[in-house]
Amino acid sequence: ASRNHPIRATLFPGDGIGPEIANSVKQVFNTNEVPIEWEEHYVGDKVDPRTESFLTWESLEAVRKNGVGLKGPMATPIGKGHRSLNLTLRKELGLYANVRPCYSLEGYKTRYDDVNLVTIRENTEGEYSGLEHQVVRGVVESLKVITRQASLRVAEYAFYYAKAHGRQRVSAIHKANIMRKTDGLFLKTVPSFFLCCREVAEKYPEINYEEVIIDNCCMMTVHPIFYGSSPDLGKTHCNIGEGGIALAEAVHGSAPDIAGKNLANPTALLLSGVMMLRHLKLHDKADQIHNAIIKTIAEGRYRTADLGGSSTTSEFTKAICDHL
Ligand code: NAD
Repeated sequence: ASRNHPIRATLFPGDGIGPEIANSVKQVFNTNEVPIEWEEHYVGDKVDPRTESFLTWESLEAVRKNGVGLKGPMATPIGKGHRSLNLTLRKELGLYANVRPCYSLEGYKTRYDDVNLVTIRENTEGEYSGLEHQVVRGVVESLKVITRQASLRVAEYAFYYAKAHGRQRVSAIHKANIMRKTDGLFLKTVPSFFLCCREVAEKYPEINYEEVIIDNCCMMTVHPIFYGSSPDLGKTHCNIGEGGIALAEAVHGSAPDIAGKNLANPTALLLSGVMMLRHLKLHDKADQIHNAIIKTIAEGRYRTADLGGSSTTSEFTKAICDHL
C-alpha cells in the first residue's frame, strides 16, 4: 500500500456518537498519512429484504469485497420483522472469532497496571447458536451446539494470532467439568472443543498451551460476564470472518445521551482502527497512532469527560494529531 495505491476499507460510522468518533478516526489517519481509502456505508431506515435487516446487501458486500472494515456503534431500531444489526453482520459475514485485546493504558491509573491479555471468543455457536424453543408452556430450552469444524477454526486462529503477535501462551477456557460433551474432556469419541484445541496445540510446540476452567479464569481476570464478553475491560475488538475478513469495532454503544455534543471519547474506535492497521500489517502506522493516543491520555491536559477531563472530542483529537 502507498499513497498512490491506497487500501480500500469499509467504514460504518454508525449511529449516535458514531459519526463524531468516526470523524476523529478519519482525521487522525489523515494526519498520519495512512494509505487507506474509506468506503462509507450507513445503516438504512428500512429493512432490506435480502438481509432482513436495516443493513443493505450492498454494504455487506462492500465488507466482503474490501476484506477489511471499521464499525462504529449501531443502535438497532426497535420493531418487529428484522434482525439485530450486529447479528446480521456476524451471520452474513461469518464472523467466527471475536478478538478482544485488553491492556493497561500507561499513564491512566486503574486498579491493575500490568494487564496484557487477548481474549479470542468463538462467536457462531455454543451459547450463541441462537437455537431456542419452548418445550411445553412454562418450559423453554436453549441449545448449545459445538462442532469440530468451528472449534478447530477458532483454535487455529488463536494459535495463528499468538504466533503472529509473539505471544507465548494460549489458554483454552472451558466449562468441561460440567458440560462434558460440548466443552468436553472425558469422551474422546465426540468432537469436543477441548480435543480440537489440543489437536491444534500439537502443531505449535513453541507456544505453551494450558486449559483453564472458566470459573478460575474469572477469578484471575475479574471477567464479569460468561465466557469473555467484558466490555469494561477491553474497549475495542476485531471480528475475524470467513476468508480472512476483519471487521474492527468499538465495544461501547451509540451513547445517545451525549450524541451530537462533541463530548464523545473516540479512543475505542481509534484503537479499533489501530487493530485494523495491524491486521493489514501496517505496523508502523499502527504504533505511531497508538503511541500518540497513549501520550495524549497520559499527559492529561486533554481528556474527555468520561476520563475526568473537560475536553471536547475535537480538542482531544487535535491533541492526538499534534503528537503525530
Ligand atoms: P452506551 O455504551 O451507548 O452508553 C453507556 C454510557 O456510556 C452512556 O452514559 C454513554 O454516554 C457512555 N459512553 C459510551 N460510549 C462513550 C464514549 N465513546 N465516550 C464517552 N461516553 C461514552 O450503552 P447503552 O446506553 O446501553 O446503549 C445505547 C445504544 O447503543 C443502544 O441502542 C444499543 O443497542 C446500542 N449498542 C450498540 C453496540 C454496538 O453497536 N456494538 C454496543 C452496545 C450498545
